[in-house]
Amino acid sequence: MRTKLAVLSSAFPAISLILSLAFSNVAAAQPTQTPTVYDVVSPPTCLNNKGETVHFIESSRGRPEISAGMAIRDRNGKPVVYRSNYAASPPEFQSFVDRHECAHHQTGDVDRSHPPRNSSEHLMNESISDCIAILRMRDEEAYDRAAFDRVATAIRDVMEKIGFPEISISSRISNIKNCYMNYGSPQDFVNGVLRNRGLL
Ligand SMILES: [Zn+2]
Repeated sequence: MRTKLAVLSSAFPAISLILSLAFSNVAAAQPTQTPTVYDVVSPPTCLNNKGETVHFIESSRGRPEISAGMAIRDRNGKPVVYRSNYAASPPEFQSFVDRHECAHHQTGDVDRSHPPRNSSEHLMNESISDCIAILRMRDEEAYDRAAFDRVATAIRDVMEKIGFPEISISSRISNIKNCYMNYGSPQDFVNGVLRNRGLL
């Protein structure tokens, strides 16, 4: 499965907006109560595939009730992750988004051409970043199954809020569960992707 994922991932990526803001035109339920405000977690260590340090920057772009991240190079060419509205989501979700966006830097997605939104290539890159994110949480943050379940629940809540269909939500959670249960270290996974892309 890992090999297949790596092979399929070969020709893509770049910028990513977790939970694709392309979906932001989907009608979502209006909040009926005052939203909870969470403390914002410290970002993880993040180096891109060229060894450059990735900086995390707070942002308020997008819908205020939706936490999202974006991996990109800034106008000076520095690799960054913009963290939008993190206080709207629980800490497990914030940590997941940070590592998911970091993964786009680790795998070289950010410096590659961006596949069309929601193409199979784009979705594969998202699955790869999700996988790396959950492996880091498992191995570096000692996330046990209970913690994994909190991540999955938080992902479901946010995706439902945005208006994703059930199939998108369940397949995403199924992917990270498979990674969490069956895959080796996050660095080995990253290396496999890079090798497949000719970047290692
Ligand atoms: Zn992404």
